[in-house]
Amino acid sequence: MTGTTLPGTDALRERALAALGAAGVTPPYGEGLTARTPITGEALFDLHATTASEADEAIVAAAGAFRTWCTTPAPARGGLVRRLGELLRVHQSELADLVTIEAGKIRSEALGEIQEMIDICDFAVGLSRQLYGRTIASERPGHRLAESWHPLGVAGVISAFNFPAAVWSWNTALALVCGDTVVWKPSAATPLISLACSGLLDRAAQDVGVPREVHRLLLAGREVGEQLVDDSRVALISATGSTRMGREVGPRVAARFGRSLLELGGNNASIVTPSADLELALPGIVFAAAGTAGQRCTTLRRLIVHRDIADEVVERLVAAYRKLPIGDPFAEGTLVGPLITAEAAERMRDALNRAEAEGGKVLAGGGRRLAEDAPAAAYAEPAIVRMPEQTAVVRAETFAPILYVLTYRDFDEAIALNNAVPQGLSSSVFTRDQQEAERFLAADGSDCGISNVNIGTSGAEIGGAFGGEKETGGGRESGSDAWRSYMRRATSTVNYSSQLTLAQNVSFL
Ligand code: NAD
Repeated sequence: MTGTTLPGTDALRERALAALGAAGVTPPYGEGLTARTPITGEALFDLHATTASEADEAIVAAAGAFRTWCTTPAPARGGLVRRLGELLRVHQSELADLVTIEAGKIRSEALGEIQEMIDICDFAVGLSRQLYGRTIASERPGHRLAESWHPLGVAGVISAFNFPAAVWSWNTALALVCGDTVVWKPSAATPLISLACSGLLDRAAQDVGVPREVHRLLLAGREVGEQLVDDSRVALISATGSTRMGREVGPRVAARFGRSLLELGGNNASIVTPSADLELALPGIVFAAAGTAGQRCTTLRRLIVHRDIADEVVERLVAAYRKLPIGDPFAEGTLVGPLITAEAAERMRDALNRAEAEGGKVLAGGGRRLAEDAPAAAYAEPAIVRMPEQTAVVRAETFAPILYVLTYRDFDEAIALNNAVPQGLSSSVFTRDQQEAERFLAADGSDCGISNVNIGTSGAEIGGAFGGEKETGGGRESGSDAWRSYMRRATSTVNYSSQLTLAQNVSFL
């Protein structure tokens, strides 16, 4: 049941159907999976969940399609991704509707997620003409030493609820131009946007005359994900989600000598130094910590502030948090939408209780909003908690908008605090001191995969490689040379002389 401040579930269901219709998709009604919306917390549709045997057929089909796709010239493979990018442009608004309906993102962030998909398609099309290998100076006369990059096989993509479409496109656009075929197992929380993305790729394939089997969608829960993980016909498992998931998936893929690319949890920090421009830092901090209702892997979770400015920074942050508009993510002006489930809100409550037990003080937020309008939904007030030290709860990722504030005296201590967590995804420093900025980016600075200066921890561009170290899993996706994870390298020596010369001056016969 919803009140006047939130759209009703029926209206959201209509809007979802309209968006799916625009993408040419009819939901596969049936049993096994329920599409829900965190806006009201209620069910939208019951869907047919992919069975184990259907998943097997999908893997067989993708493996079959690989045989011709791998020899299709890469620029021609880029043609499929170009067409997908065109369709994403045309349907950006409806796709964003589905992201908001299923993941609860506010309008501009949902549109931004689809923009990211368009951008990675552009990137991948360019890349389809740049899958360069090296020519290497041979030590032998009349020999050429070179490396080539070849398609790898079937790429299994497992994705999380919070970037339900963009993470798929990072993997799929790259994998397809690299000559791999893709089997996608999205989060069970976001089947509708998955159907729309997959439907548009099917349409793109039809438009450019490519078999649809280059991509298959598995709408299912974790068991089918496990099936994909254990299947030796799947050459690469690219899995995005919690560290718990990665801890299970990594060893299982390794046990069959498959390749894995893991993008797991983060516990990201920003350091605020005495020279920081607070006019710039404060909005950066609020966006990174409270944006997306704290449900980004790059969400700012730890603020490490110099003790001389900590009171001022905290006071201004608390004032900003009190004004944050929380509610309907479709409504103009809303900055914080719902958490994905009521369980996520419970985990947030638990973490706040633990923080207090560990000596913390909740300075803002932590309450629940709109509980009467939508009892099944979970609208949480983003929280700020001042902590005496980096205790156990601070070192864990709670996927909710909690910002722990710690203080430091000297910059080495700040860097040590930044690095003293199990995760290593994103980090940033706000400073006008060049030595501090460079030190933060240096080998003995931040140990994260992403380290920023004078911006927050979230909101990466697709051009850079995305991912992190330690319990974040070590994988890199998206830009730079992340494409190499989707290909295999062949090193070739060609002897064009009439002599057989052995390497390392070895004589034989
Ligand atoms: P989750 O780990 O619960 O699920 C992620 C996906 O893994 C889902 O599709 C799920 O069905 C599947 N899965 C879970 N266990 C599995 C198993 N044993 N075998 C195979 N598949 C399995 O994560 P979530 O709640 O959907 O997403 C939030 C988490 O994802 C956070 O920890 C966040 O930091 C992380 N995340 C990381 C990145 C990144 O790039 N590093 C990006 C987005 C989200």
